[in-house]
Amino acid sequence: MQNITILGSTGSIGVSTLDVLALHPDRYAVYALTAHTRIQQLAQQCAQFKPQVAVVGNADSAKELSRLLLAKGLTTEVTYGEQALCDVASASGCDTVMAAIVGAAGLASSLAAAHAGKKILLANKEALVMSGQLFIDAVRSSGATLLPIDSEHNAVFQCLPESYQRDPAAMGVVKILLTASGGPFLHRSVETLDTVTPAEAVAHPTWVMGRKISVDSATMMNKGLEVIEAHWLFGAPASQIDVVIHPQSVIHSMVSYIDGSVLAQLGNPDMRTPIAYALAYPERIASGVVPLDLTAIGQLQFTKPDLNRFPCLKLAYDALLAGGSAATVLNAANEVAVEAFLNGKVGFRMIDQLIARTMDKLPVSDVTDINSLLEQDQLARSAVRAFIS
Ligand code: NDP
Repeated sequence: MQNITILGSTGSIGVSTLDVLALHPDRYAVYALTAHTRIQQLAQQCAQFKPQVAVVGNADSAKELSRLLLAKGLTTEVTYGEQALCDVASASGCDTVMAAIVGAAGLASSLAAAHAGKKILLANKEALVMSGQLFIDAVRSSGATLLPIDSEHNAVFQCLPESYQRDPAAMGVVKILLTASGGPFLHRSVETLDTVTPAEAVAHPTWVMGRKISVDSATMMNKGLEVIEAHWLFGAPASQIDVVIHPQSVIHSMVSYIDGSVLAQLGNPDMRTPIAYALAYPERIASGVVPLDLTAIGQLQFTKPDLNRFPCLKLAYDALLAGGSAATVLNAANEVAVEAFLNGKVGFRMIDQLIARTMDKLPVSDVTDINSLLEQDQLARSAVRAFIS
């Protein structure tokens, strides 16, 4: 029996994870669930999965949740705040942590799981992008297991040799090929992108996801973050990580080898597949996903990304090449710019411009510990807010 903590259980990944767990009550028990604002939903999840602990954002939410749980006759312990998230991510009662909080808010708890040597199922790519080597060092020194949930990285992981040791070239890998759907604006004229609304930006053609990652997909910053994520997960330099536009989202990514072989992982676009794979690794379990019918799909297409249409992708490559604090700044600037776009404060094309201006403004510095990392994160956030106002 594996005991699971789900950080961000009320989100899109959290709900998909609970869907998979519900299929296998003989293998998995829920140790802790966490939410930020959706307290009613968390109470319903507690009633179904009976976690030992539930964590929310603040004291008022904790009071509300306790009241709802009491009414249901549940004895789940209710806690709140960032330290409580770290506690349930590192508790001795939990073996596996699904890190599915969105953005930098998930950094501390993901890192806590890494330091505690847990099996970490990493959906929260921003945590790895912003902390890079610090995260990998924490995983290595504690002996934690880090498994990617992002469908692209999960696919790459499945296409790498079993003996793979974070040295792609030594294993004959020439390229990691990350596929990208191209998002909702793949074919929209670039001149009209400034007028797109948040509702249009979050309407992803193939995946159903949270709002922030949906906007990231529309700007292709999501793919940019994934390039950086692939670098840290697999030890590949930027020059060995390519992005291929593949609108059908059937091939989730590929690995190209020195002998000319290209290995790909395919499936319907449903996050329950990578979640089930990582949960049961190295075994395979049912995920509830409908089997892929290639004849119904008919055609698979591939093109190169247009960097004029998607400048965020180039900014992410620039940050990876610059090293040091650049990815931390990129991630923080993106989070603030996307939030401003979703709140109607800036237009869609301002997102990439705000990130570029912030990266120009803040010189690249070394990120040697968590304090210097958080300082760079805050500097970038302040810079974007100042540009916006
Ligand atoms: P959602 O917005 O759907 O869910 C985010 C979760 O994080 C919710 O449970 C939310 O709680 C919680 N949360 C938000 N802010 C805070 C905070 N400040 N402190 C603590 N918890 C917080 O996001 P997704 O599920 O779409 O994405 C989660 C992560 O997974 C992201 O990093 C994303 O990039 C990654 N990912 C997502 C994929 C997808 O298909 N959705 C695919 C690949 C990666 P509440 O809802 O209660 O406010």
